[in-house]
Amino acid sequence: MRIGQYTDSDTTRTDSESTADAAGTDPWVGVATDDGVVDLATAGAAAGVDIGPKTSDLLADWEWRRKADLAVEYAESTGVGLRDPADLDRAAPVDDPQKVVCVGLNYRDHAEEGDNEIPDEPVLFSKFPTSVVGPEDAVRWDPDYTEKVDYEAELVAVIGERARRVDPEDALDHVAGFTVGNDVSARDLQHGDGQWVRGKSLDTFAPTGPDLVTTDEVGDPHDLNIFAEVNGERLQESSTENLIFGVDELISFCSRAFTLEPGDLVFTGTPPGVGVYREPPVLLGDGDRVTIGVEGVGELTSEFETE
Ligand code: ZN
Repeated sequence: MRIGQYTDSDTTRTDSESTADAAGTDPWVGVATDDGVVDLATAGAAAGVDIGPKTSDLLADWEWRRKADLAVEYAESTGVGLRDPADLDRAAPVDDPQKVVCVGLNYRDHAEEGDNEIPDEPVLFSKFPTSVVGPEDAVRWDPDYTEKVDYEAELVAVIGERARRVDPEDALDHVAGFTVGNDVSARDLQHGDGQWVRGKSLDTFAPTGPDLVTTDEVGDPHDLNIFAEVNGERLQESSTENLIFGVDELISFCSRAFTLEPGDLVFTGTPPGVGVYREPPVLLGDGDRVTIGVEGVGELTSEFETE
């Protein structure tokens, strides 16, 4: 199942408003099917199941998968709640996570690329939730504030069930599915500060999407090709089989320290080839376009704009 968030297109909106996340209508949760996009709350209400308006509401319900399946079946058989994707804009699959957890140095060859030792335990850091944007939003920054904007291709796990002190063998049961993420980083702030939260948390620096693809559809999350392309040139290419700590180990490790809640995002790290370590370095500027792809999960393209 491909779960996403949508807003109704409004052609009267000006360009600057349409890229400003807050200016649009509140996004609502839908499921992409061959017949169109199922508005889960509308189809669910008609089918007799109560589904909240957003992905975070859906995932907070322990029966979310059963309810979503019922709503989709009902929409496919009656047409109720079925929308034409041409009338819709895309928002982040989860635009209001409580936490965005990230892990550094989680691909063996990326750790070596930065001359870092292979860690014995995951090195966690965070992006503030206000950095999250969707597949149609631009990444924007003030060029006087940071001059070293970089990309990081990442597989992102979306929590579907509260996780506290779970073992690795149970951890994937707490994951709803996966999406594609770009852990956009201001390298000058990240390296200058001595810790990373500011350089990782600029507004718009966490593009995600387009869909949250459920675990049953993704299959083994540790055997997926992953890439980043900058203006069509492939600069990162690897497989999640190169993860030092797998999704199950990461979820378990996090959950021993803090509770993971439905809708929380866990960025699982990036493979080699990020811009700052290239010779010469590749740093992003106004007008650049970055596509991140993860096999079976999707492709996420973001425009980069200085403001
Ligand atoms: Zn990262």
